[in-house]
Amino acid sequence: MSKGMFHVPLPYNETVLNYAPGSPEKNAIKQEIKALKEKILDIPMIIGGKEVRTGDVRQITAPHDHALILAYFYYGTAEHVNAAIDAALEAREKWQALSWDSRAAIFLKAADLISGPYRAKINAASMLGQSKNVYQAEIDAACEFADFLRYNVHFMSEIYSEQPVSSKGIWNRMEWRPLEGFVYAVTPFNFTSIAGNLSAAPALMGNVVVWKPSDMQVYSAKVIMDIFTEAGLPPGVINMISVDGPVGGKVMSTHPDFVGVHFTGSNEVFNKIWKKIGENISIYNTFPKIVGETGGKDFVIAHSSAHPKQVATALARGSFEYQGQKCSAASRAYLPSNLWPEIQNYLVEDLKSFKMGSPEDFRNFINAVIDEKAFNKITGYIEQAKKDSDRVTIIAGGNYDKTIGWFIEPTVILTSDPMYASMQEEIFGPVLTIYVYDENKYTETLNLVDKTSPYALTGAIFATDRYAIDQALKHLSNSAGNFYINDKPTGAVVGQQPFGGARASGTNDKSGSKLNLYKWVSARTIKENFAPPTDYRYPFMEEE
Ligand code: NAD
Repeated sequence: MSKGMFHVPLPYNETVLNYAPGSPEKNAIKQEIKALKEKILDIPMIIGGKEVRTGDVRQITAPHDHALILAYFYYGTAEHVNAAIDAALEAREKWQALSWDSRAAIFLKAADLISGPYRAKINAASMLGQSKNVYQAEIDAACEFADFLRYNVHFMSEIYSEQPVSSKGIWNRMEWRPLEGFVYAVTPFNFTSIAGNLSAAPALMGNVVVWKPSDMQVYSAKVIMDIFTEAGLPPGVINMISVDGPVGGKVMSTHPDFVGVHFTGSNEVFNKIWKKIGENISIYNTFPKIVGETGGKDFVIAHSSAHPKQVATALARGSFEYQGQKCSAASRAYLPSNLWPEIQNYLVEDLKSFKMGSPEDFRNFINAVIDEKAFNKITGYIEQAKKDSDRVTIIAGGNYDKTIGWFIEPTVILTSDPMYASMQEEIFGPVLTIYVYDENKYTETLNLVDKTSPYALTGAIFATDRYAIDQALKHLSNSAGNFYINDKPTGAVVGQQPFGGARASGTNDKSGSKLNLYKWVSARTIKENFAPPTDYRYPFMEEE
């Protein structure tokens, strides 16, 4: 055990590099992309520190280039999920007994590896495997991931310092024990940092983890596992498996030592997971913790006092960066009639200037959507919009092409029906729907914003009138877990804007904050009495 009250280094946000022409970072990433493309990777599952391969071999191609084969990975079955659980449980005793500062050191080192020697690699893998332009890869894979790890170490030390008061003659202590079993981490395709954090956060708090990344993120998941290993994470603490989602979900939810799920993904999948846990509630040794950050139908509302150019820029970035595949992406906007003509001009002009193509060409602001399933879903909404010409008009984009990669033009739909499907449902692609409201009906429109969708993840108000801002803050109090004033609703920074939403958007445990880490501990209260009583009688029992 440690013999000192150690202080962890102060956390900070990793500086986002700009990749300007001629910069060292640009040269480094170009070299790394070239090197990655030269070899087709072989990506095994990692169970108990060992590489596991199966006969079910799957191919990873770049979303922006079907012909570019990046890697092969191996698909497991229920048997592999069970093996990963066994490996985790075997590692548990030693891992939870290790002093907290050793755990901290591993993840601090991992953060330094991410922002240092692995920076180009983890970014390049995210660019090729998830079709992110270099800036999107940098803010996610390098910066946000390192931020998650550094801030979580800091938050862990704060949680451990939280101790109860003690009356005279006794000493009360709080011990922040890891959970008694294994945590199952299930992660989405769209953020490398989320994939890493969902397994790392419970492990940092002393838990053992089975991690199932999205099939569409396995390429950068391999880099994450390499980093954890190089940072000194012992075998079995985080086990990475590739299996069909429901197969993993079934094994997880029917195991008596299951103690928690750390999920980020769609609302639909989270509902299924929760139901399975409910059905099996009587078999668990411990009530499991259920943490799920899910979808969004994120809004921008502009008041008649807003600056049109600011609104248009927020929509151009907030709706279309990473092809709208951010849970926080603005996908519905409510714009006042007095500003609409000007906002429309700016927005359409911006969209015309967007370049779309491979992330390897750094001039491209827009890249491909993740896979065929996403392509079909998104283009389905666009085709429907073309048919619904009585209620909607496509004012920008609307075309798509899957010949080379999964490319969809950033598309803006203008609707006269505020309840139109694309105002309500998560599309998760480069489609923004706009409803222009009578500038005198601000209050009614705030009501619409609140009631239109079941989600409540992010939202933004643009206004210069402080009363209008205040009204939005109050009226939309439950409409978004991350609320922005005069800023786009994307780009939350760890430690600055803890992230998560309520209603259908999840359990709002705010990843990258203390609230999340509390989920991965089960506190034990210890009371020590320095002068235990030796007589059961109390003074009130004595004769007058
Ligand atoms: P998804 O729900 O399709 O998949 C998420 C993960 O769940 C994958 O690893 C998948 O294999 C697994 N899975 C599927 N069925 C399962 C089952 N029955 N049991 C257990 N696991 C199962 O999500 P996606 O397409 O990868 O990601 C996009 C979604 O994630 C969007 O809805 C987006 O809004 C959401 N998201 C939310 C946040 C947030 O912080 N709120 C962040 C990122 C993404």
